Amino acid sequence: MSFTVLELFNNVSAFGWVVVAGGIFSAVLSGIIFWQDTTRQSNRLFFLFGFVNFVWGIVYAIFEGLFSTPDANTGVVMLYGTAVFIPTLLSLFLYVFSLENRSVSFLKIVVYFIPTVVIIGILYLYPSFIVSYQRSIADQSGKIIFEAGFSLYVFYVLAYLAIGPYFLIKKYRESAGIFKTVIHELLTAVWVSCGTAVIMALFSPLFGDWHDLFWVGHFAIILLVIITSYILIKYNFWNIKIIATELLVSITILIFIVELFFANSPLDLFVRILTITLVIFSSIFLVRSVRREMQSGERIMGLMYDISEISKRLKFLDRKKTEFLSVASHHLRDPLTSIRGYTSMLKEGSFGELTVGVKEALDKIYVSSEHLITMISDFMDVARIEGGDMQYVFSDVDMKKLVVELSSEMKGNAEQAHIIFSTTIDDVSMGNESFITVGDAGKLRQVISNLVDNSIKYTPEGEVSVLLSKSKDKRKILFSVSDTGIGMNDTTKGKIFNKFSRAEGVSKVYTEGTGLGLYVAKEIVKKHEGRIWAESKGEGQGSTFFVELEAKM
Ligand code: ADP
Repeated sequence: MSFTVLELFNNVSAFGWVVVAGGIFSAVLSGIIFWQDTTRQSNRLFFLFGFVNFVWGIVYAIFEGLFSTPDANTGVVMLYGTAVFIPTLLSLFLYVFSLENRSVSFLKIVVYFIPTVVIIGILYLYPSFIVSYQRSIADQSGKIIFEAGFSLYVFYVLAYLAIGPYFLIKKYRESAGIFKTVIHELLTAVWVSCGTAVIMALFSPLFGDWHDLFWVGHFAIILLVIITSYILIKYNFWNIKIIATELLVSITILIFIVELFFANSPLDLFVRILTITLVIFSSIFLVRSVRREMQSGERIMGLMYDISEISKRLKFLDRKKTEFLSVASHHLRDPLTSIRGYTSMLKEGSFGELTVGVKEALDKIYVSSEHLITMISDFMDVARIEGGDMQYVFSDVDMKKLVVELSSEMKGNAEQAHIIFSTTIDDVSMGNESFITVGDAGKLRQVISNLVDNSIKYTPEGEVSVLLSKSKDKRKILFSVSDTGIGMNDTTKGKIFNKFSRAEGVSKVYTEGTGLGLYVAKEIVKKHEGRIWAESKGEGQGSTFFVELEAKM
């Protein structure tokens, strides 16, 4: 060429630079998409597509620079030569995209590009066969002329613009859900942009004065890059915050790079290079930290979702288990009650005199069936509590009477186990206090009986003392049962009121326990707006269980 690059740049209009800027934007945007997932072949092709737009922008600037020179013809050939890659890459991208996560083999890609190479070859070998530029010396402008071979070019472009969407339409028919929507959006964007680009780039010069509008196609393709990027971001759920940061950072760096050319002294250039280096490094840190923040945010969201799914599943299983317990318990309790009833009658001699051996055997059957009935009643209570069907009948309950009666019933059990059993009702110190509370007599009896029973069970030797008293302000009734038994450590104390919870190794002391009695007691006391808790100085140091209820004033 007979002129310098600087001269060429000077000839480029402001509009030509806008075209270049559009190309840069297209390359940066598609580059960012590629950067989100470099392993995807469709992303790689999309980046190439965006990059070719950038090259086209640069070639357009060169073409403008050559307008008034004899080389304008070369410029137009270069322009159409670069544009050849646009339909090919777009078509290939659409094809690979339609394959979802599969890739196309290298051989297929080579085959895809054969016609492109042919067109480039024709353009190079016969520069005026497809398109040429007719300069008008008078007004320093010119006109693109479509030569004999132009129809071949048009056929090539249209064929590629048909192949890509063809695969996509095929995929659209087989798809469902979100992917179908994505294909639909992509196809619409392709039709509109490519339609505009084809009319403007291939046919507009036919409309006479419109001939210089062919650059509109370039912006239509940039628009396609923007829309496709948006669709890809949406479809792949890439975080818009990361992409916006990357875009901003890229544009800032580009501006700094352009500024390098305006340095007016070597020192100025040095300072600018230093600044740009700093900007690049801090941008890398910025993008990385945004990425990390987003990724950990996404991971937390994922974990939260998993946890909520697991919790739903556990709740479902828990409900199923409760239902099973309820059904099984009902079916077991009735036969067991009759076994216990008949055993009791046999023991009492209702069916004739029994030998000592038979009596002993019946005693064992009686005790075991009673254990089973208690256990089943606990299961049924749990099922009722969890199903919200536990029925309460509230009335005035005399706790003194209840405790005295229960104590006398249970004293026998304690004595059988060689335990010293005592009951104290502290009503005298406060002036013959009454111990009336409002509650369900049967349920409160169940709570107290369970606590006293536990104290006897978990005290291999020593004492069990029951105490009923009132708070100083007389508003609360306090029941407690202390023993000198196995006691418990803090871990056990923290969990025994939970369902199925027993102290470690406790089954050596008492095998048949289910770990449900205290859970049921806690639920009952809760319904009475009272408190229940346990205290112990440690293992082997005895325990005290408390129940506090509102006194009726
Ligand atoms: P179960 O007695 O059937 O195991 P509970 O719910 O009544 O079920 O009691 C839960 C656990 O609390 C018991 O297994 C035992 O470990 C502990 N526990 C209850 N009462 C006492 C007590 N008086 N002394 C020591 N540990 C006790």
